[in-house]
Amino acid sequence: MPHDQIAVTRSSMPSIEELIAEIEPLWESRWLTNMGEKHQELEKALRERCGVDEVCLFINGHAALECAFEVLGLGSDSRRQVITTPFTFASTTHAISRTGLEPVFADIKPDDYTIDPAQIEAAITEETCAIVPVHVYGNLCDVDAIADIAQRHHLKVVYDAAHAFGVERAGIPCACYGDLSMFSFHATKVFNTIEGGALCFSDPALKMKIDQWKNFGIVDPETIAYIGTNLKMNEFCAAMGLCNLRHLDEEIEKRKRATERYWDNLSGIAGIKLSMPPADIKSNYAYMPVLFENDFPVSRDEVFVALAEEGIGARKYFYPLISDLACYRDHHDSSSTPIARDVSSRILTLPLFADLSLTDVDRICCVIAKLGRIGRRR
Ligand SMILES: *Cc1c(COP(=O)(O)O)cnc(C)c1O
Repeated sequence: MPHDQIAVTRSSMPSIEELIAEIEPLWESRWLTNMGEKHQELEKALRERCGVDEVCLFINGHAALECAFEVLGLGSDSRRQVITTPFTFASTTHAISRTGLEPVFADIKPDDYTIDPAQIEAAITEETCAIVPVHVYGNLCDVDAIADIAQRHHLKVVYDAAHAFGVERAGIPCACYGDLSMFSFHATKVFNTIEGGALCFSDPALKMKIDQWKNFGIVDPETIAYIGTNLKMNEFCAAMGLCNLRHLDEEIEKRKRATERYWDNLSGIAGIKLSMPPADIKSNYAYMPVLFENDFPVSRDEVFVALAEEGIGARKYFYPLISDLACYRDHHDSSSTPIARDVSSRILTLPLFADLSLTDVDRICCVIAKLGRIGRRR
């Protein structure tokens, strides 16, 4: 008998009444985009939430990342290399490449899968201009070591914080690290505006430039200062964000409950490695990564198939490694980042969203526990 399907993710939404109340004024104002009231309100709410002086909203996180590189002027001198991780979503590397920069991959740490500062240091050349680390799965990078390296080598740091909205260390929100942090508010992320993204930073000089950049470079009706582009978040997306933000803490709490149930169920199984945040980290429980080690009786791919047969969606997140993708592999060699390559072949992210029931978590863990005991029945 086929069980009910369990998706790997499910978008958070406010009640329809709450959303309608939020968008209703738009029928009066007829102001649908161009940094309207909802856009301003959401930027203000996010400045408070993220503990930063400046927030700029975007149509999506990827556009925000490209914009960050452009307004920082990366590549405008002879330095075009950007050190980043191959263990991420394609967006990170695409943004680097699409803005005329060259991604240089540094390996990750085996404990939390974030970029290894020692490997960053080893990859620095005369041509390095920036570091683009990723708080992968919401795991905070080694921000202190990275800040130290950047300062000693005069490099910019732009964090891809797409997974990390709501993450804090010792009470300091993750948006406070680096020159800029990019967040994605895509439908599948912990906090969503349907599609959307933001740059968070503290340099007030950048705010006006970015606001102009995302609006064609328009300074005033008769002055266009830059060959800018159009990346503005519209009022409906901002309104969705205002609603979802009200429920964020509650949603993270529910994700926490599901995650802890996974940990309880899976931590006793030999050959399974879980990723738990250090004590000073307030996690956002964005993903549920599970790594299958050598002593687990079956491979990651076999677990993936067994779950799929039970109607359970899991994702090989991130596989293939970016440096093995068709659009990068001719110029990169994944054997230079052996830890990332190994993790990529062993990791699976299990279903996780606020409304995932504990019963469903138990059902998923049962399938995995069974494989752990007897191997895959053939
Ligand atoms: C989602 C994501 C992005 C891109 O964000 P969009 O809002 O979808 O454009 C970038 N980097 C990482 C690591 C992501 O997961």
